[in-house]
Amino acid sequence: MVIDAAPAAPAALALPEGGGKRILLVAAVGLIDPDGRVLLARRPEGKPLAGLWEFPGGKVHAGETPEAALIRELKEELGIDVTEACLAPFAFASHGYEAFHLLMPLFLCRRWEGVVTAMEGQALAWVRPQKLADYAMPPADRPLVALLRDFL
Ligand code: C5P
Repeated sequence: MVIDAAPAAPAALALPEGGGKRILLVAAVGLIDPDGRVLLARRPEGKPLAGLWEFPGGKVHAGETPEAALIRELKEELGIDVTEACLAPFAFASHGYEAFHLLMPLFLCRRWEGVVTAMEGQALAWVRPQKLADYAMPPADRPLVALLRDFL
């Protein structure tokens, strides 16, 4: 089993039965606005799972923590600045895709600096927690929706 970004994986993390699959670590965020709405971003054409709505985030690079990856990705994709102190660990998705096993911590964030902007031309939607289930999402993200809806 090859683990991408192994240094960033918490030492106590129990890896699922990977079946020899590569482990991919992706960090995602539930960005929550003052009205309690959650930001979803639509995966653009040309990317795997194009057209599906996801919690913003991206791959954790080798040697990076999930928090540092999110800080980097949110600046690149949404043009906002978040600090580590504002990223609260909330839940953990673990999903076996055909080509890899995805591990995806979801953080919640209610404070950031700057205006949320689609830096890569992606569609964005601020969604009420009760409406999240109406959006088609990658299978890894789906179980997080119920958790988030119940929490918010
Ligand atoms: O965003 P990126 O393409 O770098 O993510 C790598 C893979 O992780 C995607 O192809 C997708 O299978 C998975 N992913 C996901 N849910 C997310 C982000 C990524 O299932 N919110």
